[in-house]
Amino acid sequence: MNMLEAEKLVFSAAGRNIIEDLSLQVPAGDVLAIIGPNGAGKSTLLKMLTGQLTPSSGAVRLQGEAVHSLAPSAMAKVLAYVPQGPQAPPDILVRELVSYGRHPHRAWYMGSRAEDEEAVERALERTGLVDLAKRPVGLLSGGERQRAWLALALAQQPQVLLLDEPTTFLDVCHQFELLDLLRRLNEEDNLTVVLVLHEINHALRYAKRVAVVKDGRLAALGYPWDVVTPELLRQVFRVQGEVVADSDGRAALLMQGLDKENKQESR
Ligand code: ADP
Ligand code: MG
Repeated sequence: MNMLEAEKLVFSAAGRNIIEDLSLQVPAGDVLAIIGPNGAGKSTLLKMLTGQLTPSSGAVRLQGEAVHSLAPSAMAKVLAYVPQGPQAPPDILVRELVSYGRHPHRAWYMGSRAEDEEAVERALERTGLVDLAKRPVGLLSGGERQRAWLALALAQQPQVLLLDEPTTFLDVCHQFELLDLLRRLNEEDNLTVVLVLHEINHALRYAKRVAVVKDGRLAALGYPWDVVTPELLRQVFRVQGEVVADSDGRAALLMQGLDKENKQESR
């Protein structure tokens, strides 16, 4: 069964279709990277997939059930979302932030139960934050802060996790650290992952499948090495590049610069 499905999604705002007739299936166990130029509609798509934006038409289904018919807490037990550049009050402690992930699991009048404590502890362990649990979020480095938000999402004990450009504000080492962690969560904990990525090379190397969004439409979907081709780079991103094998035999992207025709156009 598909973990998540989008069927003929349309999102209109300001008199135009920002997302147009977009259908997509995410099977359980997938690591799907969504790439595309700035303004293509990636964040809008992700917000519809997470039930934060209601499509103008079309439907989103989570484990076969229409998202608009699910109670928010029922949805949050299955699906977690890490938005782009989330903000927390700087003096909140890491453990407290992560414990918000338990809210969908208990009524407002309940205190924290043993199972809640265990879920928070496990999320802190999984993200390597046990030693930082008592530190204010405002004192964390960028990489640590991103992991704290990931830990909050994991404390929900979701089956599918969606992230919007989680590596954008990280240096390259912390980008790989986060992507490695997401791959481990997928492989070891069976978590389905959908993430918008800015770096095409990361999508090529970390995703199981890649979806390309251009002008609100799905331009391509498939295995990374089938999707990321010189032609796609030229047509969608207007750059010249090729995919080569690195010394480990893995695909790697070699970016050469602006597409030649593109250069002439902008002259
Ligand atoms: P991406 O994440 O791919 O960069 P977005 O999904 O954020 O793109 O935005 C796609 C386009 O839709 C952009 O041109 C953006 O300005 C526009 N847009 C997004 N949300 C709205 C809205 N609520 N009203 C009007 N325009 C919007
Ligand atoms: Mg975006």
